Amino acid sequence: MNYKIGVIKGDGIGPEIVTEAMKVLDKVAETYHHKFNYTQLLMGGCSIDANGVPLTEETIQACKDSDAVLMGSIGGNTTTSPWYKLPANLRPEAGLLKLRKSLGLFANLRPCVLYPELRQACTLREDISIQGFDMLIMRELTGGLYFGERRTEEVDGVMTAVDTLSYNENEIRRIAVKAFEVAMKRRKKVTSVDKANVLDSSRLWRKVVEDVAKEYPEVTLEHALVDSTAMQIVKNPAHFDVMVTENMFGDILSDEAAMVTGSLGMLPSASLNETKFGLYEPSGGSAPDIAGKNIANPIAAILSGAMLLRYSLDLQEEADAVEHAVQKVLQEGFRTGDIMSDGCKQVSCSEMGSLIAERI
Ligand code: NAD
Repeated sequence: MNYKIGVIKGDGIGPEIVTEAMKVLDKVAETYHHKFNYTQLLMGGCSIDANGVPLTEETIQACKDSDAVLMGSIGGNTTTSPWYKLPANLRPEAGLLKLRKSLGLFANLRPCVLYPELRQACTLREDISIQGFDMLIMRELTGGLYFGERRTEEVDGVMTAVDTLSYNENEIRRIAVKAFEVAMKRRKKVTSVDKANVLDSSRLWRKVVEDVAKEYPEVTLEHALVDSTAMQIVKNPAHFDVMVTENMFGDILSDEAAMVTGSLGMLPSASLNETKFGLYEPSGGSAPDIAGKNIANPIAAILSGAMLLRYSLDLQEEADAVEHAVQKVLQEGFRTGDIMSDGCKQVSCSEMGSLIAERI
């Protein structure tokens, strides 16, 4: 099959790690007889340098014309880079926010996996980490507290600030459907996280998720309160498969879950809209401190490519092949500097990409 993939290499380590992800995708194409037609696009600091703005209409349109977009990371050193002397709406991150909005990306997926080979990086006690874990946090990305009406004003002589947490049933239904669809491709369990003992928005959330669950009888649904979920993530992370939650809860829980894996360079992410289209990128930033040295860990970008195959192109076998290749390389003891440990063999960013591609 022929597929159109938009590629935003971005800034910092972005070009290095995306090049390796493309090397792996090319090997997938060769092995499984597909054709990936790449369109290289600018966004972030590199777009500011070339076009004076972090995101152009041409880039937005080219993304819309693609089946999926693979992205590196954007931004520079926020203290020293001239990009951060610009007004906020012209800085690199403004491009990313605008792109997500223009593409209607309302579902953010962050898998947090503890690979047995990287167990020593896990921040949890050994009796917990020994069990391993593989959870996927699905965060609603365009509603809730971060997008609600807000104001700061003086009320009876006292400064008062108000933020509004609002969700309608359609916004909840579409993210719930995504969560169940994704669960069908995994271990068929959904934990819906809310604060239904206090918040009206959570009570509606719970009701709509329960309605959607009826359409997925194979998937087990459980509800959990956000405070107890925060504890469960550090107490028993193996309990979770797909976790779905509103914007702010997801923001906090996904960082907590990422942290307990201990390896930022290993974590991919996806942002999806109502169609199969998605934007796939590593969870980490552009790491300007190590950019251009060929030492960054490309695995998060490579696994983002695997998510692209799985969720936008529906190529399950190919996605499995990439994930198994990553695991194999780790089992064989190859490591980039950030995940290096005694007895392993340290390799560069490009060597890591080649090793993974060779095992497809
Ligand atoms: P960062 O994630 O870029 O770096 C944090 C630390 O992790 C650094 O020491 C870095 O070297 C290391 N690191 C990150 N990815 C790595 C990898 N693949 N391999 C090896 N080490 C890796 O976070 P930061 O330094 O706070 O931010 C740098 C820039 O990235 C900022 O401009 C920030 O705004 C931007 N940023 C962009 C995105 C995005 O593109 N979605 C996300 C987060 C941060």
